[in-house]
Amino acid sequence: MSLTIHAINTGWIGSFQNRLTNCRMDGVKVMTPSLCWLITGGERKVLVDTGMCDTERANKWHHAGSKQEPGEAVHEQLGKFGLKASDIDVIIFTHLHWDHVQNLQQFPDAELICHEKEWQFAMAPIPSYWHSYEHPIIGAVPPFQGREFQLLKGDAEHRILPGISAFFTPGHSPGSMSVAVETADGPYVIAGDAVMTYDNLRGDPAKRQKFLPIGRYTDIFQVFDSLERILDRAGGVMEHVLPGHDATIVGQKWPR
Ligand SMILES: [Zn+2]
Repeated sequence: MSLTIHAINTGWIGSFQNRLTNCRMDGVKVMTPSLCWLITGGERKVLVDTGMCDTERANKWHHAGSKQEPGEAVHEQLGKFGLKASDIDVIIFTHLHWDHVQNLQQFPDAELICHEKEWQFAMAPIPSYWHSYEHPIIGAVPPFQGREFQLLKGDAEHRILPGISAFFTPGHSPGSMSVAVETADGPYVIAGDAVMTYDNLRGDPAKRQKFLPIGRYTDIFQVFDSLERILDRAGGVMEHVLPGHDATIVGQKWPR
């Protein structure tokens, strides 16, 4: 068995640099890709996250200037890999923010997995996260409404399938998880938004800061712990960490 990870970009989000990297270039606008991941080569077909929604929904509930081109929704891109939506057996969610969970109606039979703490927060978020989770209180219907999830508990690493496991990396949200994938080139870690771009891991050597934390979080102390944990699990190799919103890895696959 030899697993391959494919980055699928489901569109571009109008964002600000200081959401990606805390306190850096406040207010500078950036367009950031909304990545999700397909893992092939195993006995079952796995997605990690399902990416963002169409342009209208993204602009209505979320970030102005966001754009999803025709054909960019996750299920519309599976044909490139010789797959259709019904071929997907398992979807692991790094977290349940709007840009990671869309189009679940396309996968009615897939097994859905997230962390128990993420599910609990998504059901009852604090007001500043109502939009992030498309909570019904704003008038939206979240894509995961009415779906059953397998809920992972605690901070142990959970084996999902041969070569694929999930581990607790909170901070961006209360129940964020990362997914470790064993490949012929060693372990890779799909980090969700615990790492948004490689800048988070490059840090700021001039200021003797190992990490430059993400700018959107529910617990900044957990953010630092999770950055450490993710880099460790990736064998200390930055390039073996796959961030949720880094433009340099759009369309790539690993091992390369
Ligand atoms: Zn995100």
